[in-house]
Amino acid sequence: MPRDENAPADNRTGRSELIAGRSRNEAWKKPPRRIEPSECITCDTCLRACPPEFGAIFDRGLDVVIVPELCSGCPKCVLECPVDCIYVDEDWTPTDNDMWSHVALTAKDAS
Ligand code: SF4
Ligand code: SF4
Repeated sequence: MPRDENAPADNRTGRSELIAGRSRNEAWKKPPRRIEPSECITCDTCLRACPPEFGAIFDRGLDVVIVPELCSGCPKCVLECPVDCIYVDEDWTPTDNDMWSHVALTAKDAS
């Protein structure tokens, strides 16, 4: 089976390594996606659609967000969103410390 070009290139660029390094996999050719909060109905459909090896989408209670460093741009979430509010984010900005703390806590819960 051909390797999925969106999959992490190797163990050094797996999800946990990206979280630890707070960096995006440089091998990913597609830009990450972002959720437009003014259009999102917080249904979590995208969250369930995002492959676990990426796990890039988080429901923070009041909103649902994509962590660009974890998003390969695959774009399974886009195909499932009922209101079509997930957009290409060419000019993504690095995730802030508070969000990384949230990501780390969620990763810990999952392990
Ligand atoms: S494009 Fe969507 S489904 Fe794919 S990795 Fe990014 S957030 Fe997850
Ligand atoms: S699927 Fe779309 S509407 Fe639902 S939470 Fe995700 S971005 Fe928001």
